[in-house]
Amino acid sequence: MKINIDPHSGFCTGVKRAVKLAETEMQEGREVRCLGEIVHNQAEVERLTQSGLSTISSDSVSEIQETNVLIRAHGEPPSTYEKLNAGKNRVIDGTCPVVIQVQKKVKKAYAESLQNNGKLIIYGKNTHPEVNGLLGQIQYDALAVTSPNELEEYDFSHPVYLFSQTTMPVTGYKELQDYIHHKMQKHFPWNEVPLQVFDTICKQVANRIPQLQKFAQEYQVIVFVGGANSSNGKVLYNACKAENPDSYFVSKASELKKEWFENSDSVGICGATSTPNWQMEEIKQEIENLSKNL
Ligand code: SF4
Repeated sequence: MKINIDPHSGFCTGVKRAVKLAETEMQEGREVRCLGEIVHNQAEVERLTQSGLSTISSDSVSEIQETNVLIRAHGEPPSTYEKLNAGKNRVIDGTCPVVIQVQKKVKKAYAESLQNNGKLIIYGKNTHPEVNGLLGQIQYDALAVTSPNELEEYDFSHPVYLFSQTTMPVTGYKELQDYIHHKMQKHFPWNEVPLQVFDTICKQVANRIPQLQKFAQEYQVIVFVGGANSSNGKVLYNACKAENPDSYFVSKASELKKEWFENSDSVGICGATSTPNWQMEEIKQEIENLSKNL
């Protein structure tokens, strides 16, 4: 049986950078506490925990004192930095440079919106840490939505600045843009609709979808490896499943089922931007073991 790992899968540059920062600190003998789980991948969190990384909840940020605190790739609102500085902590900033750019754009657009009575809408989950970090740049004065349904009661009679969480699906963002544009047209029938759309979906996520679609077609069975709470993982897995119905999502090797591989000659393994390569290798090894007994 042919079993291959997708060469484009694995950590994105933002996650790689945050993990590297944590590892470097620990190799130099310093204790590091990460604010929230460093990646949406339990196996990787466990690996780093064994090396000495501990995770602290955002709720306890005011209580931390004189500690090395890692900010993960999702970023944080400015209030988090203020609290950490007040507690004399050393901040190791793992915010992804792509997210930092989005934070800056959100802040700039907000300043402009105050001049023209505009409003900001963010396509993303308001419980997602990256969205919390974005909202925190602008005193939480924006609406975060995941679908047009959530805008049914919205007042579209003012300019709108539209942003997306970096890991949301491109198709969903386009659908939301079209919906908002359509609704705004009723209020601005004679002028160009004052809707500014910011292209803030991470290219590393957007580009993976066409790559994964192609990969999913090349194998009889697809095993997608990702953390159960990874939003990017869900988007990418759904893209695989749409191309190849014999696609399965697993978070660890023990979730693999032998019957998935019966009658198949080829298995493709792929993962999210938060899936470490070592985990896909482990899954490959386990599929090889299972296939020996088919
Ligand atoms: S998905 Fe993109 S924006 Fe998010 S951490 Fe990775 S590189 Fe950064």
